[in-house]
Amino acid sequence: MKKYVMVHDENLCIGCQGCSVACRNENNVPDGVYRLQVHMKMSGTFPRLKTDFIRQSCVMCEESPCVTVCPTGASFKTDNGITLVDERLCVSCKYCLLACPYDARFVDPITKAIGKCTFCFQNRLSAGKEPACVTVCPTDALVFGDVNDENSEVSKLIAKKNVEYPKAHLNTKPSLGFIKNTKGGRYE
Ligand code: SF4
Ligand code: SF4
Ligand code: SF4
Repeated sequence: MKKYVMVHDENLCIGCQGCSVACRNENNVPDGVYRLQVHMKMSGTFPRLKTDFIRQSCVMCEESPCVTVCPTGASFKTDNGITLVDERLCVSCKYCLLACPYDARFVDPITKAIGKCTFCFQNRLSAGKEPACVTVCPTDALVFGDVNDENSEVSKLIAKKNVEYPKAHLNTKPSLGFIKNTKGGRYE
């Protein structure tokens, strides 16, 4: 059984938003809502300045509060650990929206169902392709693959680098990790 994981290396990310644009194109994301955003965070004082680029999207929790609270079964998990929404069952009660600690869900202004990152499950992953955001990144800041395959690029990266998981203390067990930016803020 495959278990898909994505890693965002903040050291490589230049905040170009290519991933976010690719996601919109690939998934026909309506204006005003996002499956993925890359936030710029500036800190420090001159000359010790630091700029971080932080990805915000569904982190594909293994223990997903959105699935637990969904009263209709519209929010569910695939065998590969991907959290999806069955639009036909979604009654837009927004319980999942409130339960998600990552602010990863939105109400689709057109369908009124809940939307979020799907790891491009239906349109790409099922056809053996990587997610759109991963393929367009010009600096290879995003790595995606099966962690149950020890020879996959993502497994090798996790073995080599210190990959952290957002809000790990909540025990939601995210499948989207990040490598913390260490650049900047070192003027001596
Ligand atoms: S495409 Fe790559 S470099 Fe550009 S914002 Fe996204 S992750 Fe960062
Ligand atoms: S990040 Fe939010 S939407 Fe995604 S699986 Fe976790 S609780 Fe659900
Ligand atoms: S995996 Fe697909 S749906 Fe998720 S952020 Fe990337 S392009 Fe968007």
